[in-house]
Amino acid sequence: MSTATTESVREYFADMINGVVTTLKGMWITSKYVWGVTPVSIEYPEVREVLPERSRMRLFNDVQNCISCTQCAMACPVDCIYIASEKMPEGSEIKKTSNGQPIRLLLTQFVIDTALCCYCGLCTTVCPTECLTHSHDYEFSQYTIDGMKYDYLAPDVIAWRDRIVKT
Ligand code: SF4
Ligand code: SF4
Repeated sequence: MSTATTESVREYFADMINGVVTTLKGMWITSKYVWGVTPVSIEYPEVREVLPERSRMRLFNDVQNCISCTQCAMACPVDCIYIASEKMPEGSEIKKTSNGQPIRLLLTQFVIDTALCCYCGLCTTVCPTECLTHSHDYEFSQYTIDGMKYDYLAPDVIAWRDRIVKT
């Protein structure tokens, strides 16, 4: 056998061994990710993450404890809270919030356009009765942008209370 042919055969087998070794190395690295790593994905929606305590998701105003002070609207950097109120009817009983503050005004509108909200949390921080909170409810996608505008005096939104407010 000539020297050139011997060299070619040697290179052939060297390449073959190199191919087998690099394939095994690749499979070893892949196997570490297949069997050696704790899964990070979950089977949503059957399984749901428990969010950190201070997560800021959908806003909820428990309107029965709102005193119409408008501090939340004044603190909001994007002006997406719309509040209206009027004087209580003559002779009506002055109710109190759950933290003992008198409710002197009748709340007639409390709307938040959450499509504009940047979830900064300032409105909840200034609320003196703590009725305005960031819930842990993150499933509120809508088909239209107007659907993101929530009227907190509407019965369907008031009904969120059972799910959101922890008593
Ligand atoms: S969390 Fe949203 S609604 Fe509240 S102050 Fe920030 S931007 Fe305004
Ligand atoms: S700050 Fe609180 S109590 Fe005052 S208007 Fe806003 S939600 Fe109501």
